[in-house]
Amino acid sequence: MAPNTHGDGARKKKVLVVGAGAAGMSAAYHMSNHPDKFDVTVIDSVNYCGGQAFSHQLDKGRHGASWFNQGVQGGSYIFHHTCTMFARQGYHADPVKLQVSFGKDKDFWTNVFPTDVLERHQKDIRKLLLMWKVMRWFEIFFALLPLKLVCQMFLMSEDFINVVALPMTALFLGTGNATPETPAMMLERLATSPTYGMWYPPDKRSVASNMCPMVVFPNFSEFYETWRKDLISRGVKVRLSTELVEIVSRDKKGVIVSIRPRTAVSDNHNPSTGISPDHPPTEGDADAAERDRHAPQHEEHYDELVLCVLADTAKALLGRTASWRERKVLGAAKFSNDITITHTDSDYMKKHYENFYRSDLAVMTLNKQDQTQRNEFGKANFRPMYYIKTYPKDKSKLEMCFDTTNYQCQFPEKVPFEDHVFQTIFLNKDRDGHLWSDEEIDSSKVIRKDWWHQLCHSYTHYIKVVPWMMFLQAKRSVRFGGSWTVVNAHEVAVMSGIAAAVDLGAEYPEDLENDKFAFLCFRLYYLLCYGKWYSRRYKHSTSEAAKAGRSWANGLYGQRYKGPGVTEEERCTWKEEMKLGRSTGNLAEGNAEGRSQP
Ligand SMILES: Cc1cc2nc3c(=O)[nH]c(=O)nc-3n(C[C@H](O)[C@H](O)[C@H](O)COP(=O)(O)OP(=O)(O)OC[C@H]3O[C@@H](n4cnc5c(N)ncnc54)[C@H](O)[C@@H]3O)c2cc1C
Repeated sequence: MAPNTHGDGARKKKVLVVGAGAAGMSAAYHMSNHPDKFDVTVIDSVNYCGGQAFSHQLDKGRHGASWFNQGVQGGSYIFHHTCTMFARQGYHADPVKLQVSFGKDKDFWTNVFPTDVLERHQKDIRKLLLMWKVMRWFEIFFALLPLKLVCQMFLMSEDFINVVALPMTALFLGTGNATPETPAMMLERLATSPTYGMWYPPDKRSVASNMCPMVVFPNFSEFYETWRKDLISRGVKVRLSTELVEIVSRDKKGVIVSIRPRTAVSDNHNPSTGISPDHPPTEGDADAAERDRHAPQHEEHYDELVLCVLADTAKALLGRTASWRERKVLGAAKFSNDITITHTDSDYMKKHYENFYRSDLAVMTLNKQDQTQRNEFGKANFRPMYYIKTYPKDKSKLEMCFDTTNYQCQFPEKVPFEDHVFQTIFLNKDRDGHLWSDEEIDSSKVIRKDWWHQLCHSYTHYIKVVPWMMFLQAKRSVRFGGSWTVVNAHEVAVMSGIAAAVDLGAEYPEDLENDKFAFLCFRLYYLLCYGKWYSRRYKHSTSEAAKAGRSWANGLYGQRYKGPGVTEEERCTWKEEMKLGRSTGNLAEGNAEGRSQP
């Protein structure tokens, strides 16, 4: 086995990063800042970098933009690391004010204007506000209890829990159909935390009436392709269509891995790995996956291994070399198989969601307070970006959907609703597939279908997985990265990659160290997942990087990112794309008759 010497100049550490998603790319990038210390190889079984984050082509003439981001759409101003990575590769996100649409007909409510359901549930709203207050004081007692249970403890009605409380949480963090079991703290933080709270401050009458400021991501395929080329220019070997089949042996001195080539599928974007029976192969990829199963394998030696793959894949890859603890912890992470159907079926949307201002459901007063202004705004400007439908047969189960045209920043502001692009996500095939209405989407209007193997943010994840990660890291030359280590968000994936690099001996970047919020988040992540506190290196630095970093953290706690990588102007990307001939001008004039959008 290869000898393992440390980065003291004697010999570079030979590191294999498995997975070129946000976590793996970030790990490789931060190691590549030290070409004297590391000899880095990144492999991914698919033929592109970005993992769950990628883009696809569109008919520009019809939809106004020539591409859309699949799955991963946007984040919050607290995503300092993600935005910094955009800036480092010459990309930027754009601001957006989030509009949501939850439920249908009598259960419909939104953060844009008040509807009858909120008037009906004023008592429950008061209970929810009380719950948040009490939880804020006694967080330690409630933090990890399942959300639904805590709502029930505060005597909220079943209807209110299903129609209001659960969708508010499911929206962020992609908790999907695991929402009733997510830790109650997630919703409490969303409403009461000035830093993380997307619904902060909560509204006494409407629960959520703020259109929370978010950022929409740039073209992910291009961003990751640029990042791939940058890594190569920094000496990193990036080998795509290359799969880690198993870890043959490992000890403190290094690892031996078995690797085989994969066949690239026609659109490169098949997220299935072929090794795990739990990962359903994308249509058209099944043959290639089957063929690849029998492809010849070969062994390679590395000093260190960073597994930036999902927890269940990591467990399978560790195979015989997995310790009892690794099997227990990694095996406790639960995943579900979800599908995103990208389509243009506006009739499906009209049948299952509320897309326009509805005067018959809107209310002009809430608990005697005048709501005319919000209604006037809604009449002219309600353009939901994010939808949640509760299934009539089982209201605790959800379907989620994006109006990609309203949300993503490369689209024109005005496109006839009938030409919008929608992404409907059907959750947890094995358990909830019988509730799905996917068959109702007109197949001639389907642009594509993508399967995801998604982390369930059940409270058990925060009892059985997250607190134990620190005891798995760096044991017998293996470290773990990926968003699943805490919460399924791009920002967490990026931080997890930096943490792996730092733990191997890389430095946390000077500019980010001086961005007090980014640095705090990183330190907390490193403490939680590695059990170590990162010591400052650039406390009194007066360098340009340090000065720049200091100016990035704004707001009460420095949470609001104001550095490069985010523009000030909404749909800035649209304007840039028009200049490049990749987006069109507006495809409609004003709103269509009787609707709040074209
Ligand atoms: C539908 C959807 C919507 C989302 N929306 C958002 C959003 O709006 N905002 C947000 O912040 N986050 C969002 N997320 C979450 C975010 O996309 C992820 O948290 C993040 O991209 C995960 O990055 P990762 O590097 O941890 O994992 P991944 O991106 O999953 O990367 C893992 C990589 O490992 C590779 N791999 C697996 N096994 C092997 C093997 N044996 N050998 C070689 N390579 C292997 C895979 O091919 C993959 O490329 C969304 C996720 C989904 C699915």
